[in-house]
Amino acid sequence: MKLTDDDIRYIEYLQGQLLQDDWEPIFDAQKWKSWTADNVDRIRILAEHTLGSNPESLTEYLEFYSSFEPRTKYEVPATKPIFEPILEEVQKAASEIGIKLTRPVVLFSSTDISATPAARPTSTEHLLFAGPGTYAFCNYWGKSLTAVTMALAPSIGFKRIETQDDLDAAFRMDPRGLILAARLALHYAAFGTLIGFGEVQQPAIYTAYRIQLVDAMETFAIAHEYAHFVAEENLVEFSGALEPARNQALELFCDQLGIAIGRECGNATDNYLKFAGIGALVSFRAIQLCESVRQFLFASIPELMKDKKLGGSSGSHPSPEERIENIKLYLYNHTAPDQRQELEQFVEEYDRILSRISAIVTMAVASVQAPGNSHGP
Ligand SMILES: [Zn+2]
Repeated sequence: MKLTDDDIRYIEYLQGQLLQDDWEPIFDAQKWKSWTADNVDRIRILAEHTLGSNPESLTEYLEFYSSFEPRTKYEVPATKPIFEPILEEVQKAASEIGIKLTRPVVLFSSTDISATPAARPTSTEHLLFAGPGTYAFCNYWGKSLTAVTMALAPSIGFKRIETQDDLDAAFRMDPRGLILAARLALHYAAFGTLIGFGEVQQPAIYTAYRIQLVDAMETFAIAHEYAHFVAEENLVEFSGALEPARNQALELFCDQLGIAIGRECGNATDNYLKFAGIGALVSFRAIQLCESVRQFLFASIPELMKDKKLGGSSGSHPSPEERIENIKLYLYNHTAPDQRQELEQFVEEYDRILSRISAIVTMAVASVQAPGNSHGP
């Protein structure tokens, strides 16, 4: 669709609102434009790392980059190649289950450094903002969980994780995924983002699984925002400014619809992680862990956090725990009886792993004392 100059000004205004001052250089579209022109070879290497070696998606990705034409002053070239295909898949899956939007969805770079994309419906189109905050979060957590998953089979064989002991045995043999989780949680707690976390090298055999998991996480993130547009067009009780309680209900609705759409995407792309809602589960457990580490930093090392605000759920969003319970309930109640047990076991096993990671990282962080607070002899 053709956007008018007024539309673009409004989009820029919204991007400006999502932007924190220190982060402006990261979103400078003109700098990115000259960078992409000068770094074609580097982009190819990055693309191979992100996408594996699927030649079709690789060509598409490189074309996106080489034709990068920023529409606003805040734009990151990776926004389109990463999120446009996901948005298309989500749209297709939604229409597959009988959901169609009247207004078009247009994708722009989010300038919000946090993990979540943003949906801003207008009377003519739906604005979807997604960007590096989201893909950095999904990619790094995808790497952590991939490393944990890959460590399981060599240490305990192909049995289900039934207890904490099974898992701890794996962590003792290969703690790389767990250690990465701890670093990610601390980084996010301190900076509110995973943009700029730095390189994490992993063996090439991890790539296939990681791509599936990251795809599941990003698909859920986009499907959830898409659900906001569906609500905006169809459900009067959820439109306009909402009271906190009503807004929480809206978020839970969007999680469920996001899961329903994600499942359809999982079927279409043969990705069981997507089908089983694992993208949502990993995202919410990771956010929950980051929040508890952040609260701990505020309480115990206030000098480190003095210029920062304690964000977290202000009442407008349900807690991660509520959101996880909500999606599990939805998943289990909307699975055919012959598949339900298998799905439930899979999800619960995954959640046992995630919860154990959270417990260990939280214990580790809580046991570190700030220098001034130590109770020495
Ligand atoms: Zn939402």
